[in-house]
Amino acid sequence: MSTSSGSPESWISSFCSLLGHEYFAEVSEEFIEDDFNLTGLQTQVPMYKEALEMILDVEPEDDDDDDDEEEEEDEDVSGDGRDGTTHRAHGERRAHSRMASDLSVIESSAEMLYGLIHQRFICSRAGIQQMSEKYELGHFGICPRMNCNQTRALPVGLSDIPGEDTVKLFCPSCLDVYVPPNSRFQTVDGAFFGRTFGALFLLTFPEYDLSKSGGDSVQNLPRNTDDKALINGIYACNVAPGLGPGKIYEPRIYGFRVSEIARSGPRMQWLRNKPADMAVLNEAVRFAGEVEENVGTDNDDESMNLNNTTGRETTNTSRRRAPAINARLRQQRQNQNASPMTLDTNGAESEL
Ligand SMILES: [Zn+2]
Repeated sequence: MSTSSGSPESWISSFCSLLGHEYFAEVSEEFIEDDFNLTGLQTQVPMYKEALEMILDVEPEDDDDDDDEEEEEDEDVSGDGRDGTTHRAHGERRAHSRMASDLSVIESSAEMLYGLIHQRFICSRAGIQQMSEKYELGHFGICPRMNCNQTRALPVGLSDIPGEDTVKLFCPSCLDVYVPPNSRFQTVDGAFFGRTFGALFLLTFPEYDLSKSGGDSVQNLPRNTDDKALINGIYACNVAPGLGPGKIYEPRIYGFRVSEIARSGPRMQWLRNKPADMAVLNEAVRFAGEVEENVGTDNDDESMNLNNTTGRETTNTSRRRAPAINARLRQQRQNQNASPMTLDTNGAESEL
């Protein structure tokens, strides 16, 4: 409708350019026009049809009203569809369809509908690709934690249901979520990004080097290469690079470290710990060594789950067992390429 240059910008691009909407990707019209992508949204959004028309910049149709008097006024009404003013004397009778109050309902419904579509879009191939471009341009900001070395954060929601919480920033370096630094993001619903996107992004683009500072290099974001050590198909340097020895704040009084068992001592620091040798987290290879069988497709799902959970756990027990397996671990390091993590990143590599 308004794609040619010089015409007014579309509803979607004007929505995404609003203050506070910097995290949003522009959902493609093809994605919205595919009914499959909208499954189940009709019941969640009031005035769904009108909201969808507003998002797609479709002129509202009055095809359901068959009165002759209304038909003759069709041209007048189409002109004031967007600004909501219905001040003409003889236009008042049909003002029920596009009154200012209706428009504000439709407008907020359209924002809600767009957000829910956006939650799905950024998990699609085209959407996650667009989000990776925004990530590279630093649109999502950086983790405020000092030891995270300005790792770029990702917008996430803590719930997939709208109205529950605002958007948060997930830091892949310390594996925690933060309130965005600017208050303008506190009006953005977290469900518009959802719980899936953050983790899916890191699975889809494992080659971003999270251990390097993402703050200064805007265009040439540091990338991993294949010759770096892999754990379950994920680069070892990307496993919580902001945590572990030397990356944990150490409280001191006059230069002396505060004892862990002091009254105000730094308890629970193990929560931010991680093993010095990340190879002990390579459960898939270790499991294969223990069973002495090929790592078949049955084990792959299990290795994914293990990889997710053990990042936060203490690995004291596994560290004790590690030396016995280390020799075998080196031999079998090649086998881990069978892991599902080493898929061709959703086909995105070709475009990166
Ligand atoms: Zn962080």
